[in-house]
Amino acid sequence: MSDILKQKGFNTRLVHADRLLNDPQDGAVHQATNNSVLFNYPDIQDLVDIFQGKVAGHAYSRQSSASIDALQNMISQLEGGVGSLTFASGMAAITTAFLALLQQGDHLIMSQFVFGNTSSFIGTMRRYGIEISVVDVTDVNEVAQAIRPNTRAVYVETIANPVTQVADLLPIGELCEQHGLLYMVDNTMTPAYIFDAKSVKASLLMGSLTKYYAGHGQVLGGVVVDTGLFDWAQYAGIQDSFRSLPVAMQGLMQIKKKGLRDMGGCLTSESAHAISIGMETLALRMDKTCDNAMQLAKYLQSHPKVANVYYPGLEEHPQHAKAAQYFAQFGGILSFDLVDSVDCFAFMNKLQLVLNATHLGDTRTLAIPVAHTIYFEMGEKVRAEMGISDNMIRLSIGIEDIADLIADFEQALA
Ligand code: PLP
Repeated sequence: MSDILKQKGFNTRLVHADRLLNDPQDGAVHQATNNSVLFNYPDIQDLVDIFQGKVAGHAYSRQSSASIDALQNMISQLEGGVGSLTFASGMAAITTAFLALLQQGDHLIMSQFVFGNTSSFIGTMRRYGIEISVVDVTDVNEVAQAIRPNTRAVYVETIANPVTQVADLLPIGELCEQHGLLYMVDNTMTPAYIFDAKSVKASLLMGSLTKYYAGHGQVLGGVVVDTGLFDWAQYAGIQDSFRSLPVAMQGLMQIKKKGLRDMGGCLTSESAHAISIGMETLALRMDKTCDNAMQLAKYLQSHPKVANVYYPGLEEHPQHAKAAQYFAQFGGILSFDLVDSVDCFAFMNKLQLVLNATHLGDTRTLAIPVAHTIYFEMGEKVRAEMGISDNMIRLSIGIEDIADLIADFEQALA
């Protein structure tokens, strides 16, 4: 039945994927939410065969279940991957993939523009003996210069948080291909509807389902997707026990067994269900969000109390041309600096519709003063390197009516 989905538009695939890919019982349009932790096999040989990887099946829901498989199938199909693993949160997905694939003495090249908690995890990895170079990924030459004989992978975010830098996505993909490096791309800000990860040669996609996929601020989740472009035979970090598998499965299976199973950051069936319902409207929400973001960016840009606006859709943005090349739309994150004479806390306290909250990718528009909150812990020096000023406010644009949003900013800035 999944053939019906081939060549269909993104919205069509979103709303029909669950029933066509997962064939739920009794004509249901959603896969059932099954909470069983254990699975009973009257013939014990069947359970033994599952344990030994001879047949597919479920042994224990920390590593798989039909409900989790259903969401993984849908995400693989939408992102154009050969397989996916879901996790309890975006951070569980990212950190599990790192720890399952890298070991002491390996070298990782990381973007200097990454989400605060991902940046915080750099210190943890260094404590375990993983070498990390942090570079400006808006310039592929910086990445090329950081390559060492023990480099295993390059990690970037598509549009970075909060200053919206756009990585040199395709040149870095080509560089990774040339050097046999794993190319890990966090596409939380740009899900498949607006970004074709394979066109930039990404090996693994990773990130948060909590954000645009789920969309409604009521569930956490994360994912790792194998695009199928990377040749795992070249990857020095595959453990011997996984080398006997077909090459295409080795990476994801190592993340599943050494990461998801052993570390245990699994998604619950209820969360998988909530995410799959939320994602049915992913494309509709992205259209409205991106359109609102563009209009609000232009409004803020023209306001005398706003010093700078950071949004890749604006022609003045340093990577606007790249963003136009890689993304169908420019995303829902925009940040701005107020002029020095305006106190950012006083301004935020006047917002009536916009929520003062940490999170992004929600149906509602959210604002947060980044230097004082999500980027506080990393200190002034790192903030300066990331281009974060003390007066910067990050917005995650929602799907409200744009006139209402602009009116709220107008009255708060007045
Ligand atoms: N990656 C990016 C780019 C993010 O912005 C976030 C959260 O904001 C995460 C990963 C982590 O996702 P989660 O909150 O689901 O753990």
